[in-house]
Amino acid sequence: MTTDAHVAGQSALDPLERRALAAVDALADEMVEFCRELIRIPTVNPPGRHYEQCARFVGERLRLFGYRVEYLAAEGHAEHSPAYPRLNVVGRLEGAAPRPCLHFNGHFDVVPVGDGWTVEPFGGELRDGRIYGRGSCDQKAGIAASIYAVEAIRRAGLSLAGTVEQSATVDEESGGYAGVADLCDRGVFSRERQDHVIITEPLNYDRVCIGHRGVYWFEVVTHGRIAHGSMPDYGVNAADQMAEFVHTVNQELLPRLRGRTTSMPVEPEMARHSTINLNALHGGQELGGDGFLASCVADRCVAVYDRRFLHEEDLASVKAEIEGVLEEVARRSDQFHYTLRELWSVPPVATPLDARVVTTLQGAIQDVVGRPAAVIASPGTYDHKHITGRAGIVECVAYGPGILDLAHLPDEYVAVEHLVAAARVMALATLRLVGVP
Ligand SMILES: [Zn+2]
Repeated sequence: MTTDAHVAGQSALDPLERRALAAVDALADEMVEFCRELIRIPTVNPPGRHYEQCARFVGERLRLFGYRVEYLAAEGHAEHSPAYPRLNVVGRLEGAAPRPCLHFNGHFDVVPVGDGWTVEPFGGELRDGRIYGRGSCDQKAGIAASIYAVEAIRRAGLSLAGTVEQSATVDEESGGYAGVADLCDRGVFSRERQDHVIITEPLNYDRVCIGHRGVYWFEVVTHGRIAHGSMPDYGVNAADQMAEFVHTVNQELLPRLRGRTTSMPVEPEMARHSTINLNALHGGQELGGDGFLASCVADRCVAVYDRRFLHEEDLASVKAEIEGVLEEVARRSDQFHYTLRELWSVPPVATPLDARVVTTLQGAIQDVVGRPAAVIASPGTYDHKHITGRAGIVECVAYGPGILDLAHLPDEYVAVEHLVAAARVMALATLRLVGVP
């Protein structure tokens, strides 16, 4: 499993670190099998299938590897139902002392399969050095990598000065409220407990992700007046009114947003600007039936927008800007009546570049891969928002195997070579952050 890239830079390693890396390589086949078995549990979200089975599978492996394991159901969340229980698992491997504590978190829910697959989506097929399947890259490989990185340290006969925790959680793909957010609210994540958190999302084995842009999802409804469709002048068409708003967003707001650039290293580069996307648009009568619609002027039209904002912007001004566009359209047309509703918002997060978890991972990537690590930020949000926003832990990054662009695509895969490289980086980072007595 050793590649040229892995050999490069090993001069920076001390003998204990070399032992740990050799143990990662020796465990590679077992780690690959564990990853394949994880993929075979079809934890599709929505609606949240087979979560309990997956949590117990991860928990059993952690127990075998010496962790104290706890299962936490997301009691009190509407999505935690008898049909689709939300179960998170947390394991704790205590070394000589409770601190420093390094926590690895990965989500085990996967998005629906979709069309266009040429392999069995939940087969865990291993072919030409790649593990295929829904969730292989995003992000069951990350869970496998962190568990086996720490196990390699143990099998190499090394003990740790501090503590390692691992959690596998639900619902990241739908906001993480019954997953990481629930663990934050239960105190599993807190500044009093962890010093560093690594979320094992697929940001590529040679990059460290320090955070993400902010989100403002909103709904605009335009209100018209119903009339017979053959005599439209008796009514006010809400869809036409919405068209005015959509047009104004595209013509006037969008150029302003494109002109704003963040200093955060967001990847891909096109996402270094403010963005806005029309997620959904519907006016008039319900569609989908086979029969004729009645002939009516559309008296109601709904638009849902997804506005992503920069670390340099703030939510209040982002909201005010949207209200300003609506008021501008209302000034031009006295028939324009609207309501505006916030659906969801998330502040941006950015871990400081000099945080120890960032610099340590950068050093480990350099030593394993043989070239400098890229530091990036994510265009979309992930569970980092809860770790920082709810638990107040600043020392948090995302790092894991898998190519981000493959997430959610058909024929999703993770390269075995990247899985092993990421596990090697995680093993080094663990030794350096948690320490050896
Ligand atoms: Zn993910």
